Amino acid sequence: MLLQELFAKGSASRADLARSSGLTRVTVSDLVAELIGEGLLEELGSPSQTKVGKPPTLVGLVVDAKHVVAIDLSVDDQVVGAVLTLVGEVVTREVRPLEGRRGQEALALVEEFAHSLVGASTRPLLGVAVATPGVVDPDGVILDAPNLEWSDVPLADSLGAALGHPVYVANDANVAVMGEYTFGGAGDGGLLLLRLSTGVGAGLVLNGSVLPGHAGAAGEIGHVQVDPDGEKCGCGRPGCLETFVSVPRLRRRMAQGDADAALADAGQRMGQALAPVVATLNLAEVVLSGPADLVEPLAREAETTIRDRVMAVTSAGFTVRVSGLGDDGVLAGATGVVLAGELGVS
Ligand SMILES: [Zn+2]
Repeated sequence: MLLQELFAKGSASRADLARSSGLTRVTVSDLVAELIGEGLLEELGSPSQTKVGKPPTLVGLVVDAKHVVAIDLSVDDQVVGAVLTLVGEVVTREVRPLEGRRGQEALALVEEFAHSLVGASTRPLLGVAVATPGVVDPDGVILDAPNLEWSDVPLADSLGAALGHPVYVANDANVAVMGEYTFGGAGDGGLLLLRLSTGVGAGLVLNGSVLPGHAGAAGEIGHVQVDPDGEKCGCGRPGCLETFVSVPRLRRRMAQGDADAALADAGQRMGQALAPVVATLNLAEVVLSGPADLVEPLAREAETTIRDRVMAVTSAGFTVRVSGLGDDGVLAGATGVVLAGELGVS
């Protein structure tokens, strides 16, 4: 509770913490002393402008007290990894080519890469998070990730045993939405993040929590059919949203004809698919994550389409915007997953 308060607000005095937590001052002082002892908090001195009397001493989170290792498997044919601080700042970042590896070979590469990143950390390690495409259960078992040819892979357990550190494995779009919520300046009004990469997936944060869905597959809007006569999708059916807006398919359409028209068409189809979701959940924001040259025009087009299709009360204050976290949004989000799991902070 105290870490959450300091994480959200930056710094506070012990008296502030007692007021906001409802704990006694003695309990707060004991807990703060314990957290200072663990190196997670530090005393920051007194605020410069104080009233008469003894000024309170502020305490704050030591952002590089510990490091987090994050691995992103959602980028086309690459494995991106980083060592990050507790506030998602990248300390070191590395990329390994996947070179078409699948199945066991891909798993072996991830394990070797994770060892190397753990070795590159210069602080005690809080934990490791892996963001993967596909459906992942709450225990970090990858149930189905067709692009990597993984099914029923207990990656959190196997990597945890290999590394000797806590390991979290989660869906890439759910990780990205966690990053946007924790570090990207999102409000509490309900957030859907649509991630455009090899495939298309979404993550939802409602009331401060990532929505898992009953089978762990919430956000699979990429496989909603938007054109019954469209191109065949990787899932086997024709005309899924993914066939219009995944990065490789959209780039191919743009190269084949009028690039602006292809982008506008993709943005409109995205808006058509998202409008019922935005209206049903009364979301405040849809955030797009992906290559900047694509997501900026898509966001404008999708917002116009959604506004045209929903009631004024739904579109009031609603925006579609591009993630400010850029390419490293998934890595920052992976930090958020470890913070939530190990420290209860989000
Ligand atoms: Zn599909």
